[in-house]
Amino acid sequence: MFTCDNLGVNEAGHLTFAGQDTVSLAARYGTPLYLMDEARVRHNCRVYRDAMRRHFGKNALPLYASKANSFTQLYRVMRDEGMGVDVVSCGEIRTAAKAGFDLSRAFFHGNAKTDADVACAMDCGVGCFVADNEDELGAIEAEAAKRGLVQKVLLRVTPGIDPHTYEAVNTGMVDSKFGRAIATGQAEELARLALSLPHVELLGFHCHVGSQVFAEDVFERAVDVMLRFIAEMRRRLGFTASLLDLGGGYGVRYTSDDPVLDIADKLGNVARVFHAVCKELSLPEPAVVLEPGRSIVADAGLTLYTAQSVKRIPGYKNYVAVDGGMTDNPRYALYKSRYTVLPADSMNAPRTLRCDLAGCCCESGDILQPDVLLPETVRRGDLIAVCTTGAYNYAMASNYNRVPRPPVVMLRDGESYVAVRRETADDLTALDE
Ligand SMILES: *Cc1c(COP(=O)(O)O)cnc(C)c1O
Repeated sequence: MFTCDNLGVNEAGHLTFAGQDTVSLAARYGTPLYLMDEARVRHNCRVYRDAMRRHFGKNALPLYASKANSFTQLYRVMRDEGMGVDVVSCGEIRTAAKAGFDLSRAFFHGNAKTDADVACAMDCGVGCFVADNEDELGAIEAEAAKRGLVQKVLLRVTPGIDPHTYEAVNTGMVDSKFGRAIATGQAEELARLALSLPHVELLGFHCHVGSQVFAEDVFERAVDVMLRFIAEMRRRLGFTASLLDLGGGYGVRYTSDDPVLDIADKLGNVARVFHAVCKELSLPEPAVVLEPGRSIVADAGLTLYTAQSVKRIPGYKNYVAVDGGMTDNPRYALYKSRYTVLPADSMNAPRTLRCDLAGCCCESGDILQPDVLLPETVRRGDLIAVCTTGAYNYAMASNYNRVPRPPVVMLRDGESYVAVRRETADDLTALDE
């Protein structure tokens, strides 16, 4: 019935999340409200950490891709769990630093890092840059030379795998804005350049094939292409990669139509290909790094809203509009993403009203989810939950329409605490001169 086992129903017919009554949480903190199940975040980290150690050896490390959700307390959890992090901006770097996260375990991504970004990351001691292109390598070399240090670097390359069409094409994804393609020879050129720079220490290569990936063999194919590229660079450039970063992208269950992924099992399959291909190519095994984002935090999140209006248009459709919307969750508006919507305060009522769950913004496209089922009796004041919102919701939230962003409340051991407070009207005008 539920997409994740941290959801349930109590005797009052209320939805529970991480064992806590969502109606009580809404009454205490107000709506809209982001909830995060801390135990679930930790569980997801441990699944990756344990499976990677078991299958890839003790040098393997999962990095939490913090663009999925970034706030100070979350980096403290990552620190406790022995995770590395992938960061994509100085904002994320500074937030991790504020949490006391050891930034030598941070990998800095991005395809358009400014000189200021490069300097900020070096100020903060970011362990490894994932360099996207020649321009960036030049900026890293210049800044590192100025400081008299040698910066560790991975190169982002595109293996030519489209994770969704399920076809192994050598030219597909060559036109990506990210990285340099193996197929065009530009990845090799980037490696030659990196090896020529005295203040750059090349560790290896990175790829990221896509997101919300369920297809059986996407990572197996990526591992195969990347290892063959590494072997080729060894032969042609005399460079032996000590690190292979396979990116993120495992899918999560937004609705019960999505499959259940056994991550540990999947990683076992990827590792079998990894060990076999290394052996075939007589390649010393590089340390393996993965960058899960969504699959660490998505099912640890839930958003609560209060219904504000119910609109029936006979012969057409129905709308239930709530006190949040594309400002706290733009994913349906952006990508037509699917979500599970539940009547949090009346879970035992039959759900017979087919409707669109609409947001409160002045924008026809502000729909949280079309075509959902809610009780016929739904009315203003009722509590509505959208599940699996832990990834790419708070991180993508905006102040469009000058709507303040909701707080993030963490649930832990039957208690709750505010990790990010609700924005106020003063926050909204704080930057206005
Ligand atoms: C977005 C991204 C990730 C995380 O992807 P998920 O689908 O959230 O697991 C990892 N690595 C890179 C480079 C990314 O851009």
